[in-house]
Amino acid sequence: MITYNNIVRKEYTAENYRRMEEKYIFSMYYKRHYSFDEDIVIGLEKRVLINLNPEGTRVLHGYIDRLMKVGDGIYEVHDYKTSMYLPPKEQFEQDRQLALYSIAVKQMFPDAKKVYLVWHYMAFDHEIRLTRSEEELSKLKEEVDRIIQEIELAEKMNAFPPKESALCNWCVYAKYCPLFAHIYKTREMTENEYLKEPGVKLVNRYAELVQKRKEIDEEIEKIKEALFEYAKKENLEVIVGSDVKARLKIRDSIKFPPMNSEERRQLEDILKKSGKWEDISTLDTYLLSKLIKEGKLDPDLAKKIQKFQKTEQVKQIFLSKLEKVSD
Ligand code: SF4
Repeated sequence: MITYNNIVRKEYTAENYRRMEEKYIFSMYYKRHYSFDEDIVIGLEKRVLINLNPEGTRVLHGYIDRLMKVGDGIYEVHDYKTSMYLPPKEQFEQDRQLALYSIAVKQMFPDAKKVYLVWHYMAFDHEIRLTRSEEELSKLKEEVDRIIQEIELAEKMNAFPPKESALCNWCVYAKYCPLFAHIYKTREMTENEYLKEPGVKLVNRYAELVQKRKEIDEEIEKIKEALFEYAKKENLEVIVGSDVKARLKIRDSIKFPPMNSEERRQLEDILKKSGKWEDISTLDTYLLSKLIKEGKLDPDLAKKIQKFQKTEQVKQIFLSKLEKVSD
């Protein structure tokens, strides 16, 4: 079970939670499963270890809400959810948590032929039950192992990137997280301290200049339009200023349908069928980088490509409105 102690809906009181618990557990779950004597309970909040490799160098641990033995070599991993949202089936098919528990059960009990993954959605009195094949479990182990390697590598390079999500609002590490640490650091400051803080000063100046650049760009566009109007009216191609002259040209620029559009696919089809594709197509380096980053290339091919690959740091700044963070 993963417990987020601080995750509560602010609009609910303790009494709301008590009533919900009464309804889910006693009125619905208890009545349905009474007399609770059909199977063997191996453990509640059962701590399990998941060996990701035979050498035992990568071991995860977790807690199963309820682990049951329900027949000869048949086990069940039960997980209880109080969420008010019932996810679609696909989400359960891709869920890693219970599938990893099923690996742990198979490692703990060699007689385990089948492990059912059972989610109980208490608010809906609804049960979802799935199993995973050996092939799926072995793929999952590889996937998790790869994710761990990525994390270790990122840690070594001191580049473990934060991943912003809806959970950030409740994150107990937010004060230390690169995404929120400056907000926490500066919000306790007096107005004077705040305005002198180097980061605050730089961001304010940057935002000011970006705004000015935007206004300048807009003005340039307006003047450009006005110049073309003037040139048209006076039948001119060159217009002089005090120190410079402007030469005005209008040229046709050919545009094609954007990437990933249906029209673009049709256009590419025509070119492929015509045999001209090789002559005009170029390598899509953006897509290639994406496939490399996501580990979606065949490892042999990725190795061959590696020697052509250079990593350059691209520095970007995105400005957005500052929102309040919760205490
Ligand atoms: S606040 Fe930072 S550390 Fe916490 S969940 Fe969000 S990104 Fe991760």
